[in-house]
Amino acid sequence: MYTTAIIIGAGHAGLAMNRCLATHAIDHVVLERGKVANSWKTERWDSLRLLTSSGS
Ligand SMILES: Cc1cc2nc3c(=O)[nH]c(=O)nc-3n(C[C@H](O)[C@H](O)[C@H](O)COP(=O)(O)OP(=O)(O)OC[C@H]3O[C@@H](n4cnc5c(N)ncnc54)[C@H](O)[C@@H]3O)c2cc1C
Repeated sequence: MYTTAIIIGAGHAGLAMNRCLATHAIDHVVLERGKVANSWKTERWDSLRLLTSSGS
């Protein structure tokens, strides 16, 4: 199998990169050791909310 890029981890950084590469039609695969957003689902508090620099 040939691919241009491999993303390790389907956390939000990996998913954001997935979106960017897809937008630019760059072929890639995402490798995740668990499930999508694994650490958010299994290693964070249930109260986790996404913090961004947008201020809203
Ligand atoms: C205790 C705690 C509480 C937090 N609370 C908040 C909060 O309330 N709000 C907020 O915005 N942020 C919070 N954060 C920060 C937030 O969790 C991180 O900034 C964010 O998850 C980082 O995203 P990431 O994609 O870089 O990494 P991660 O979300 O950690 O994603 C990495 C992914 O890579 C996978 N992975 C790792 N190694 C491999 C491998 N060898 N092969 C394949 N897959 C692999 C993991 O399973 C995981 O899915 C918290 C962090 C911690 C530690």
